[in-house]
Amino acid sequence: MHLIYSDSYEISLDLHPWYTSKYRLTLDQVRKHGLIDESQILEAPLADDSDIATVHSIDYYRKLIDLDFSDDEAKDAEIPLTSETVNLAWRMTGGTILASRKALEDGLCVHLGGGFHHAFPNRATGFCLLNDIAISLRVLLRSQVIESAAVIDCDLHQGDGTAHIFRSDPQVFTLSMHQQDAFPFCKQRSDLDVELPSGTGDELYLPALDSALARLFTEMPRPGLIHYQAGVDAYAGDLLGRLKLTENGLRERDRRVIDAAVSRKIPLVITLGGGYTAGPYEVARLHANTVLEALAAARGDG
Ligand SMILES: [Zn+2]
Repeated sequence: MHLIYSDSYEISLDLHPWYTSKYRLTLDQVRKHGLIDESQILEAPLADDSDIATVHSIDYYRKLIDLDFSDDEAKDAEIPLTSETVNLAWRMTGGTILASRKALEDGLCVHLGGGFHHAFPNRATGFCLLNDIAISLRVLLRSQVIESAAVIDCDLHQGDGTAHIFRSDPQVFTLSMHQQDAFPFCKQRSDLDVELPSGTGDELYLPALDSALARLFTEMPRPGLIHYQAGVDAYAGDLLGRLKLTENGLRERDRRVIDAAVSRKIPLVITLGGGYTAGPYEVARLHANTVLEALAAARGDG
C-alpha cells in the first residue's frame, strides 16, 4: 500500500484551526510504528488544469489563478486566498488523483491530505478551494477507468460540495454522516445523509454507520472505487464539532468502513479530511490511527 504525501502541505496559516503541520506529524507518527518502508511514500504531484475543469467552472478557475475574489467570496473561504493556499489546493488535488489511481492498482491507498468536500464548482467555502474528491472521481469516470464510485464521508461536517456536484449523477453514490446542527448550515442533499444530533457518541454512531453502509451496498452493490473521507472531527475533543466519538470509536469506524470495501474487494482510497483539536499532535495521532488501520487491512490482519 502506498501513502501519498508532500512536505509542501505545511504552510503558514498563523492561528488558524486548520493545522497544516498535521500532515507531516501524521506521517511522523506512522513512521514511528515501523510498519512502512520509505519506498511506499509517494510525492503528491500538482493536478493538471484539465483535471480541475472536470468539476470547477472556468470563471472560478480564473478567480483562483488571478486571486480575484470579492470580499464576500474571500470571507466564505475562511482561509486566506493567496498563491500559497491555491497552490496547496492544486497539490492536494493531484495527491488525491494519484491516491485514487494507486487504490485501483493496489486495492487500498491513503492520501495523507485531501478531503476538501465543501468546495463547490464555482466557490470556495469552509477551508476548501478545490473539491479533490469530486475531481478525482470525475477524472477516473471520464477516462472510463471506472464506471461508478461511492463516497463515504464521515467527516463531522456534511460533504455538501460533493453532494451538490454529484446530485444528478447516477454513477456516483454520495453518503455523508455528519453533525446535524453544524456547518454547513444550508445542507445539500446527498444520496444518503445520516444527520446526527450534538452529543452523539460511539454507541449510537457505530450502529448508524452499519445501517448506512448496508443501505449504500443495497443501492450500489459494486462501485468501481470507494472514496472514504475519514475526517476525525467527530472526536469528543474536537474544537469545531460536538459529536462525542472516542479515539477507539473512531478506530472502530475506520475498521468498519475499510472492512466493508476490502471484504468486497472494492478498491478504497482514503483522504484525511478535517480534525481540529487543541493542538496538532493530538489530531495527527487520530489521523495516524486511520493510516494504521489501513496498513493493517493491507497486510491482511485488519
Ligand atoms: Zn470537518
